[in-house]
Amino acid sequence: MRTIDKVYIDGKFVTPHGAELAPLYNPATEQLIGQVRLADETDAHAAVAAAKRALTTFSHATRQERLAILRRLSAAFTARLDDLSNAMIEEYGATRTLVEAGMPKAAAVFDEAAEVVESYEFTRSDGGTTVTLAPVGVAAAITPWNYSIVFVAQKVASAIAAGCTIVVKPSELSAIQTQVMTECFDAAEVPPGVINVVTGRGDVVGEVLTTHPDIAKVGFTGSTAVGQQIMRNAAATMKRLTLELGGKSPSILLDDADIPASVATALTAGFMNNGQACFAGTRILAPESRIDEVLEAIKANVAELKVGDPDDPSTAIGPLVNQKQFERVHSYIRLGQEEGAKLLTGGEGRPDDLRTGWYVKPTVFTGVTNQMRIAREEIFGPVLVVIPYSDEQEAIEIANDTPYGLQAYVFSTDTERARRVAGQIEAGTVLINRAFGDPDAPFGGVKQSGIGREHGAYGLEGFLEPRVVTA
Ligand code: NAD
Repeated sequence: MRTIDKVYIDGKFVTPHGAELAPLYNPATEQLIGQVRLADETDAHAAVAAAKRALTTFSHATRQERLAILRRLSAAFTARLDDLSNAMIEEYGATRTLVEAGMPKAAAVFDEAAEVVESYEFTRSDGGTTVTLAPVGVAAAITPWNYSIVFVAQKVASAIAAGCTIVVKPSELSAIQTQVMTECFDAAEVPPGVINVVTGRGDVVGEVLTTHPDIAKVGFTGSTAVGQQIMRNAAATMKRLTLELGGKSPSILLDDADIPASVATALTAGFMNNGQACFAGTRILAPESRIDEVLEAIKANVAELKVGDPDDPSTAIGPLVNQKQFERVHSYIRLGQEEGAKLLTGGEGRPDDLRTGWYVKPTVFTGVTNQMRIAREEIFGPVLVVIPYSDEQEAIEIANDTPYGLQAYVFSTDTERARRVAGQIEAGTVLINRAFGDPDAPFGGVKQSGIGREHGAYGLEGFLEPRVVTA
């Protein structure tokens, strides 16, 4: 049992004013493994005040000073990659394969930000006019529990690059990951108040940060519903927003696709992070002319996927984060059947060989229309739907018939054709014949999947504001 009972304000680990204790579970065993003492409104105000004080100096930090901090942060995260990975496996059941492939990104985002800062033109002159890209002010980062380390690191990297100070409010379900990450911030010897971390509830600490007059910008990763609430909260003080929200991404198998290879990649995209990924390819659009082949390939592939201990490198799908998600995902599996869809594979209940742990069988529905709720709502578990289409135009229409627009996947043996189709998909990112995006590319969604972009110069610009002087 571990107790996490400190928040990080003004460069110090301090006991929060908040006294509420929240339990922490290992989702693979359902065992209670610890508790976290949550920050409250008073702590949130103290963190904002510290960030505001630090901004006075840090907003004038030179390029070299910001570069030095970013490099120290990269080194601090690099030194703790194993601890960060282990925390993600233990706390939310991320598979070892996923974290070992992805965790170096948590350190790399600081190097990438440093690279941008090195050559970025913060001051531009044209005739008598000078435009300065100035730090927007004190920022807040509000993040989810899934893959939270990378989402926090990304926002912190852009804030530091811009000369902003930041208050981070991670999910109350990611306290162990947050503890390791905060130790990295501390080890990097960032000036006091530049980075503050207050784990607390969204409707408590999150509400303070999204309404506080001293917060100029909110970078949020999470659900669309909470993103909408944050926008409403932010309106009164005109906060700048970057919102990375939910998705219901289509995987379009074009009729010339290599079906076995494409289905294997589409399932990787669909079941990524145990189905708990914002950009999971959860709607597989299959050509009617090859539907039998597609269904056969799905069945064969799913039969090979190992569900179980996330720490085992051969595991493809680990448990869901908590009992609530386990029950919610099951309610969608029931709903799909009530809506008239057919189970191709999976269904209710844990896999036969697992008695405990919040494990859900990889589940794929057929006989699905794009109007069913299982095709429209984000389920956030290993539950996919297959939707048949008659021709390319219809595939594009179905792909775009969603309130979301985060990511899409197109599979074809003809790259030019795939690019042409990709150009007609309403999504922040379209991947062709691959499940993982370019880590250097800007990331974000269109429609209700969000506003703004993260990574690189696009991410930096979300923390800058042009100020003009003309003489
Ligand atoms: P969530 O929206 O429930 O919570 C996200 C964060 O918002 C948490 O820290 C929570 O405490 C906080 N919050 C809740 N209510 C708040 C309020 N009123 N004001 C301020 N903050 C509040 O999301 P979750 O369940 O933690 O994560 C899963 C969701 O995140 C999914 O919808 C997923 O698609 C999305 N997500 C999106 C991306 C992306 O990059 N687009 C990445 C990962 C996850």
